[in-house]
Amino acid sequence: MRTSTFEILRCPYCGSRLDLVTSSFHQLQGDEIQHGILGCQCCVFPVVDGIPVMHLQPAATKARELVERGETVNARRVMFGLDEADAAVGERVDTVIASDGATYRTIVEAFGEYIEGGYFLYRFADPTFVVGHAVTRAVAGTVLKHGGRAIDICGGSGHLTRSLMDLSAAAPVLADLYFAKIWLARRFTAPGCEPVCCDGNSPMPFARGAFRYAMCSDAFMYIWTKRQFVQDMLRVIDNGDNGRESAAVISHTHNQCTWTPSHGQPLTPDGYRNLFETIEPRILGESALFADVVNGGPLDLSRDVPSKALDAEPALTIIATRHPGVFVPHALEPPPNRAQGEFRVNPLYVESGASAASVVFRLQFPSDDYEQEYGACRQYLPEEIAIPREVLSALAAGRVPGDLADLVRRRVIVDLPRRYDAPVAGIT
Ligand SMILES: [Zn+2]
Repeated sequence: MRTSTFEILRCPYCGSRLDLVTSSFHQLQGDEIQHGILGCQCCVFPVVDGIPVMHLQPAATKARELVERGETVNARRVMFGLDEADAAVGERVDTVIASDGATYRTIVEAFGEYIEGGYFLYRFADPTFVVGHAVTRAVAGTVLKHGGRAIDICGGSGHLTRSLMDLSAAAPVLADLYFAKIWLARRFTAPGCEPVCCDGNSPMPFARGAFRYAMCSDAFMYIWTKRQFVQDMLRVIDNGDNGRESAAVISHTHNQCTWTPSHGQPLTPDGYRNLFETIEPRILGESALFADVVNGGPLDLSRDVPSKALDAEPALTIIATRHPGVFVPHALEPPPNRAQGEFRVNPLYVESGASAASVVFRLQFPSDDYEQEYGACRQYLPEEIAIPREVLSALAAGRVPGDLADLVRRRVIVDLPRRYDAPVAGIT
C-alpha cells in the first residue's frame, strides 16, 4: 500500500485516520507498507502482503495476530481462506506463488475449489464486461479528464479496474472482500492498482471526497445494505462540487422485474432510484448499451428510458452525476493497436481446420451454463473464422500485425493481461 492510499484510508467504524503501529511488527518497502498493523481510535487492522484488511471478520482477526508475530506467509494463507485444515492446499498455493513461472491460471488452479476461478479466461470478451468497459471508459474518461482518482468497489479480480488504469491520476483503488481475488488483481489483472480488502455491507473505509469516480459492476445485486452502500458511494466522491465533477456508476445490476441467472437480491428500477435521495440518477437498460457497442457506437448515455421499458430489462446501468459531459452520446474508442498486456485469439475459439494460408477457428462455449448467461457474445463473435497464419505467428512473437483492428474490435483477438496464461492458438 502506497502513501497516497494510506492518506485516504479511514476506519469503517469510527471514521478516524489510521496510524501504522510502529511498536508492532512491520515491514516497509520504499514508501509502501508491506506488512504491519494499522490502528484507529477504536480497533486495529492488519496489512497483509501490501493489502490493508479493513474489516473484523474472523480471518482478519486471525491474520492480524499472525502479522503481530511476524508470521506474514501464514497471515496471507489465512486471508486466502486456507486454514490449518487446508494446509496441503496452502502449501501448494505458496509453492506456486514462489515459483518463477507463476501465472494467473497456475495460481487459480492451485487454489482448486477454494477460489471461484471458472470463467476468468473469457471475462475480457463476455457481453457484461464489454458493456461495463464501454461505460467505464465513457464516464470515467469524462469526469477524470482533469485529474482525480477512481475506485472499483466489489471489483473482484480487477477486470474492470484494468479499464481505469490510464484514467485515474493516482492508481485506482480496487475494493473487495475476497482477499485472494484482489491479490491476484494487483499481481496480474491490473498491475499497479491499489487493493483494499473491505466488506461491501459495511461503511467504506475511505475519506469523504477521496475519489472523483466510483463504480460497482456486476455485484450490486449481491449487496444487502444497498441504501448504506449508495450513500457511502456518494460520500467518497463528494468533493464539495455538488456532483458536477464526479460520478457514481452502478453497472450490470439485475432487475427484480425480470429473471436472470445468478439473480442475487435485485431491486426494481424505482427501488434503485430511491436509494440515491440527494441526486436523481439516470437508469439505462443494458440491452440498448450492448447494441450500441456491437454496432460500433456511439454509446448513447443521453437516453431517457421510460420506466415501462426499464421494467423489461434484465440488467441495468445507473449513473449519478451532474457533470454536463456524461449524459451525451460517446464515440467508442478505436480498438487498441498496441496491447496493454498481450493479444491472444479469444479462448472461446478452438481450431477446427487449416489451410496453407490460414487456421480456421470455431466458437465453443466452456459449458451450457456459460452459453445461457453469455451467449449474446454471438452478436460480435462469428461462429467460425479463418485467421491468416502470418497474423497468428506475429501474435505469438509478441508483434502486432497491421490489419488487426477489426479482429480486436469484434473480440476475436483479445488484449489479455501478461502472465494470464491464455493458450497461444494456431501455432503448430
Ligand atoms: Zn476505528
